[in-house]
Amino acid sequence: MRRKTSTIYLRDVPIGSDHPIVVQSMCNTDTRNIKSTLNQINKLANAGCQIIRLAIVDDVAIKSLEEIMKQSTIPVIADIHFDYKLAIGAIKAGVDGLRLNPGNIGSEEKVIKVIEAARDRKIPIRIGVNGGSLNKKILEKYGGLCPEAMVESALENIYLLEKLNYPWMKISLKSSDVPLMLRAYEQLAKKVNYPFHIGVTEAGTEKSGLIKSAVGIGALLDKGIGDTLRVSLTADPIKEVYAGYEILKVLGLSSKGATLISCPTCGRTEINLILLAQKVEKLIERLDVPIKVAVMGCPVNGPGEAKEADIGIAGGLKQGLIFKKGKIIAKVKEEDLFDEFVKELENTVQEYKEENNESITTF
Ligand code: SF4
Repeated sequence: MRRKTSTIYLRDVPIGSDHPIVVQSMCNTDTRNIKSTLNQINKLANAGCQIIRLAIVDDVAIKSLEEIMKQSTIPVIADIHFDYKLAIGAIKAGVDGLRLNPGNIGSEEKVIKVIEAARDRKIPIRIGVNGGSLNKKILEKYGGLCPEAMVESALENIYLLEKLNYPWMKISLKSSDVPLMLRAYEQLAKKVNYPFHIGVTEAGTEKSGLIKSAVGIGALLDKGIGDTLRVSLTADPIKEVYAGYEILKVLGLSSKGATLISCPTCGRTEINLILLAQKVEKLIERLDVPIKVAVMGCPVNGPGEAKEADIGIAGGLKQGLIFKKGKIIAKVKEEDLFDEFVKELENTVQEYKEENNESITTF
């Protein structure tokens, strides 16, 4: 069951309570460059990114942010480290949210100034505790980094914002150590009801980071913890967005886009199934309908093993099958198999859209 939380709004995107879990990412452009940053925001938004975070590094980035805010189609969060003046500048530039750690902004007076600037528009603030940057006092108290130390650091910041009567916050407790991160979120979930932003920080490359993120984010979501997420990858941020939705789809928490089912291949496989599965995966990457597409290695077991697929393809010796919901609809020569499959997939998409009254697009 989903954890009960308060709700905050990033522009028109609700976060928390029973609202759908929100997928976000972060631009890796020089955010002082308006054109390249907006270009990347648009690409990410087209891929399904619902909120974008930008590192705000100096006054030039603030100036650019003013223009970016006029044109960004999705809510923007300013990521601020240390300098409270940049936080105030981002608020004045019209930003929709802030990510900061009040603990490293400096004195309480500086935090008060940021809060006073944010209050009019109730700009949500993410308290982003990171295992790698806990303060010395807390680390000494606990004898090093541990879940309790992360929770105490978060609570210190939460209490400060509560003292200032500022409830519009969400919390993250990120670490690259997955078990540590899991315990920290679980412990904090018992103490506060603010929405959580979840993710595994410094997770790694597309290969290792994806696995680490899927395990960490997936384990939290399965416990009902998590209201917005970012899959952090050392890769094109578009991959973060795709990965975010894949994790949600695996857990039945999103139905965005098509899902691929493919068999692992075995001694019965008589075609280059790995290549075929990659081609189909690429083909359905941008499909906007929640259908299941199967790529199976043999005609004997394939259609049956992938009965739940709306449409599937099964390879055989010099020919292949196309099937829908386990029923074979065509037998095709190997050289025509992919092209025929594309046509049938288009039909399946159109049928889905007609049944659901959605406008029809072709590939
Ligand atoms: S579908 Fe056929 S080829 Fe694929 S794993 Fe199953 S038996 Fe093997």
